[in-house]
Amino acid sequence: MAESSVRKTYKEQLKPTPSQERERERERVLWRCRTLYNTALEQRIFLYRQRGISVTRYQQEAELKALRADLPDFASIHSHVLQDLLARLDKTYQAFFRRVQAGEKPGFPRFQGSNRYHSFTYKEYGNGARLENGYLVLSKIGRVTVRWSRPLEGTPKTVTISHEADGWYVSCSCAEVPTQPLPETGRETGVDVGLKVFLVTAEGDVVASPRHYRTAEKQLAKAQKRLSRRKQGSRRRKKAVALCAKNHQHVRRQRCDFHHKTALALVRQYDVIYHEAIQPANLSRRPAPMPDGNGGHLPNGAARKAGLNKSLHDAGWGRFLSILTFKAACAGKRVEAVNPAYTSQDCSGCGERIQKSLSVRTHVCTNCGLVLDRDENAARNIQWRGQRLRGVLALAGAMNREPVGL
Ligand SMILES: [Zn+2]
Repeated sequence: MAESSVRKTYKEQLKPTPSQERERERERVLWRCRTLYNTALEQRIFLYRQRGISVTRYQQEAELKALRADLPDFASIHSHVLQDLLARLDKTYQAFFRRVQAGEKPGFPRFQGSNRYHSFTYKEYGNGARLENGYLVLSKIGRVTVRWSRPLEGTPKTVTISHEADGWYVSCSCAEVPTQPLPETGRETGVDVGLKVFLVTAEGDVVASPRHYRTAEKQLAKAQKRLSRRKQGSRRRKKAVALCAKNHQHVRRQRCDFHHKTALALVRQYDVIYHEAIQPANLSRRPAPMPDGNGGHLPNGAARKAGLNKSLHDAGWGRFLSILTFKAACAGKRVEAVNPAYTSQDCSGCGERIQKSLSVRTHVCTNCGLVLDRDENAARNIQWRGQRLRGVLALAGAMNREPVGL
């Protein structure tokens, strides 16, 4: 097999010394970064409203030099860190306009409160941030101990420092991390997101849905309620905020862990995994209201769809797929997306289209008599579709011409 590599991010907790804790230098950098981010956003908004000028990221970057000459607070921060935050702002702008063009209704780039802005990035490893004998060395901040949980591989490219509910972390993005191929099994499958379960394979194997969020939701609601009763700026409110953040972090970690384990199991078992291409905007869009002609509305499945959306959201299907794709790339396996149209309607036995609403959980074919769980039927269709697509491509390749339609 050809030598191949992937890009990978290693995230490890930092262990500042008591004196570093007291100096709070990282907090200061974060605070200044946030201030500059908000100022840069304000500048963009102001110039656009007043003079119709769209400021670019490079124009803002060019101003950094003067800013650093005037304000020692910013001179003490590595220039790459400042450039990176302007790039971040630019990214949110790009995303905003892209979504406007796509006909969505995105929120305008927002000012960042202290609870929303929690990281800064050195965009070039070795320039302001590097590792030395297992320590992280940051320019103008100093040497920080890292709690390594695994060895770093590949070539470090960027370094991000983040503040989370339980402390500080360093994320090192490395290129050319060698992959570790897993043995081939000669098996392929399709996977579909289930309504009541997390996923179903074409063989009918079921991975149950994690209910972390629902359970934790109650705790979160309680913490949130407590938070709302606390007086602004009080010490007790601060405590409540910290508790809320901790709960959120806990949920996130559990979900991430579940995704990694599930993905690894699939990648071990199969060489190729097919799934439906997802369109997140469509999934989460509310069904259009259906007027009944008497001023009221007919049921349009909104309530049920809200439930489905919630499940999809809970399960974090998109995030799971990106983890699965990454794990597969590391293991020398493949993950492929197929066209999602009618995967749950078509019969995986004979291809006949059997219309069914979302509430019909079993596929019953009136043509060939196949009776199968709805999600399993869809997973099989996804697999057939992916394999047929590859067949067509292979054939076209052999005949040296473009594939015609599908
Ligand atoms: Zn059939």
